[in-house]
Amino acid sequence: MKKISLLGATGSIGTQTLQVIKEHADQFKLVAMSVGHNVELARKIMKQFNPKLVSVQDKAAYESLKLEFPKIKFTYGETGLTEVAVFDEANILVNAVLGSVGLYPTLQAIEAKKTIAIANKETLVTAGHLVMEAAKRNKVALLPVDSEHSAIFQSLQGEKEKNIQRLIITASGGSFRDKEREELKHVTVEEALNHPNWSMGAKITVDSATMMNKGLEVIEAHWLFSLPYEKIDCLMHKESIIHSLVEFHDSSIIAQLGTPDMRVPIQYALSYPDRLPLQSANRLNLAEIGKLHFQQLSFERFRCLQFAYEAGKTGGTMPTVLNAANEVTVAAFLSGKITFLEIETLIEKALMDHTAIENPSLSVIQEVDQETRQFVHSLL
Ligand code: NDP
Ligand code: MG
Repeated sequence: MKKISLLGATGSIGTQTLQVIKEHADQFKLVAMSVGHNVELARKIMKQFNPKLVSVQDKAAYESLKLEFPKIKFTYGETGLTEVAVFDEANILVNAVLGSVGLYPTLQAIEAKKTIAIANKETLVTAGHLVMEAAKRNKVALLPVDSEHSAIFQSLQGEKEKNIQRLIITASGGSFRDKEREELKHVTVEEALNHPNWSMGAKITVDSATMMNKGLEVIEAHWLFSLPYEKIDCLMHKESIIHSLVEFHDSSIIAQLGTPDMRVPIQYALSYPDRLPLQSANRLNLAEIGKLHFQQLSFERFRCLQFAYEAGKTGGTMPTVLNAANEVTVAAFLSGKITFLEIETLIEKALMDHTAIENPSLSVIQEVDQETRQFVHSLL
């Protein structure tokens, strides 16, 4: 029985992780979880899965839930996230929380020798070097949940990393893939949230529309697969059927395909190195689909993708700034404070304002993250 701690249980990845756990109740058990503000859904999950430890974002919810569920142990705030991440009984942490708030709990879970199934890409973007170093030192497996990285990971089974020519990360193109830059001036939040292929949380849906999601994924891939940025390419693929590809030195390309369903990579991370059936998954019927499309992604059209490559190549604290500025600007766009295109102009200002610090420690990362948030807030 694999015992699971889940950060972000009420989110898009969190709830799909719970579906996988439920479908394989003989193999997986939820022992600890965290939620943010969605206490209603947390109640339902607790009744169904009966975890031993639950963390909520604020103290008021903590106080009331404690009285309501006397058999469950509660905790709250950022300390609560870490308590869930290192929960004694768990062997696996599924990190599906949103944002760089996931960094510290992940590092602590690695020190506690938990296997990490990582969806929370902001953690790898903001401090990939710290996460990878800790994982290596503690001999802890870091299993990708993000569909592209799971596809690469699956394509690399039985292969040697030294034989990789390049990775090709596919991109659906997001909600505005068919719009010219001119047309982006007046797009609404509602339009941005209307993703053509995937149903995901609000922040990552906007990240897909700006193409920052692909940029974050390039940095994520750089860390997960220890490859230089020159060996990581992106390719627009509207159907989201090929989830990513690996090209080898001999020109062979191996890819992973499937209908867009996050439960597949989530389950693979949980069952790895084994595979389990997923009865409710839609099977891929290529004859029915008939055609797949591919297109180059332009840096002029998708500025955020360029920012991410540049920040990644600069390294040090630059990706921390990229991520923090993106988190703040996307939240500001979602709450109607800025326009869609201002997301990229503000991120660019934050990047221009920063001089990268090489090989930053955790405290430097945390400082730069906070300073960037303040800087961007001052511009709003
Ligand atoms: P959601 O917004 O749907 O869910 C986020 C979860 O984190 C919720 O449980 C939310 O709680 C909780 N949360 C948010 N902020 C905090 C905080 N400050 N403290 C504690 N808990 C918090 O996001 P997604 O599930 O879409 O994404 C989660 C992560 O997975 C992201 O890093 C994303 O990039 C990545 N990912 C997502 C994919 C997807 O298909 N959705 C695909 C690949 C990667 P509550 O709702 O209760 O407030
Ligand atoms: Mg992805």
